[in-house]
Amino acid sequence: KHSLSTFGNRLALDSGIGELMQDLGETLASGDENLCMLGGGQPAHIPEVDRRWLARFQELADDPRRVASVLGDYQPPGGDAGFRDSVAKLFEREFGWPITAENVCITAGGQTAFFLLLNALAGKFDDGTERKVLLPIVPEYIGYADLATSSDLYRAVHPLIEKIGDHEFKYAIDFDALEIDDSIAAICLSRPTNPSSNVVSDAELEHLAQLAEENDIPLIVDNAYGDPFPGVIFTDSTPVWRPSMVLTYSLSKLGLPGTRTGIVIASEEMIQWIASMNAISSLANNNVGQAMIRPMIDSGEIISISHEVIRPFYETRSRHAHDWLVEALDDSVPYRIHRSEGAFFLWLWLEGLPISSAELYQRLKKRGVMVISGHYFFFGLPDDDWPHRNECLRISFTTSEHVLRRGIKILADEINQLFAQQ
Ligand code: PLP
Repeated sequence: KHSLSTFGNRLALDSGIGELMQDLGETLASGDENLCMLGGGQPAHIPEVDRRWLARFQELADDPRRVASVLGDYQPPGGDAGFRDSVAKLFEREFGWPITAENVCITAGGQTAFFLLLNALAGKFDDGTERKVLLPIVPEYIGYADLATSSDLYRAVHPLIEKIGDHEFKYAIDFDALEIDDSIAAICLSRPTNPSSNVVSDAELEHLAQLAEENDIPLIVDNAYGDPFPGVIFTDSTPVWRPSMVLTYSLSKLGLPGTRTGIVIASEEMIQWIASMNAISSLANNNVGQAMIRPMIDSGEIISISHEVIRPFYETRSRHAHDWLVEALDDSVPYRIHRSEGAFFLWLWLEGLPISSAELYQRLKKRGVMVISGHYFFFGLPDDDWPHRNECLRISFTTSEHVLRRGIKILADEINQLFAQQ
């Protein structure tokens, strides 16, 4: 039996995100239609969008010189120079941001960007001190939870909860509770937020950016679902970049997770750090996503397909999933659904749930319905005894419509029974 280093102990053993991706990959690979996979962050297969990727793939394949370079050449560790330039020009054109290729870097998906970035900015320092990443609002993306390599990475703040009507709610940032001192290395949030579907407002984001600048720390905003692509955001909100901010984007939620392509926009210094970490950890990135998407970035099609096809698909789907859930749950169940503002999920809060959300997950799994227990998303909080942590479920609505409907029926039946037995 081998022993593991600190790094190994943290990364080589079981993790929430590891279990989630294993369950997701196995279910998709099994093709078992009896299982209702409402668990992962898998994008939907939207026929019109899938056809577009196929066409781009074929156009590439029909060009032997492109194929030789895309499949046969390593690219520089920061990403293809032409692609980085195209990305910078897109954001300059759309939003007037003063950025160039030197402010853009490619990573193996957004996940890798966070792994490298958060570990580089926070954790253990050579002088023996430790610094943390402030999560201004939780629940927050499960994929951040386990990526610390040296010491615990997060300090999280409880959200404010606004109850709306009988069955709806919304989170907001509790600015009075945000404390930033020397031990905070960065502020980080996803927008739209996985899992809650919350979109932090422009005013909240502005406030965070000011706090970050006053304290000379970066504000990292994860746009995996955000604008301008894939644009799965249902509220009015404006993308913002300042030199103190780090923005991450990804091709995954457009429907290309297999290409493993993440995009970071940041200061030139930060971009050089990431490129260097890419070189050391993986030499170079996958070329395929960049090659497929570049003409669509140059033409602006990446934005039109996001706004005209991808966003409407998920917005409609979110509304349907919401209506089916409301229809299936007994009105006497004290449920609340987070206002659906973006991303791929409904976030269900069952106040006073008689068992924990983790136990509810197990019961649903036995009935062939995979969701994610909400407790995974509340990492970094000082206290473990806040009931809300164990009262929520994340329900992904990207699977086929009939599987989603069936899954929601079973889920609601289990919940109705639990509350009826009280
Ligand atoms: N950030 C958020 C909020 C996500 O939901 C995901 C994936 O689910 C990622 C980042 C990472 O995705 P990828 O590494 O495929 O770009």
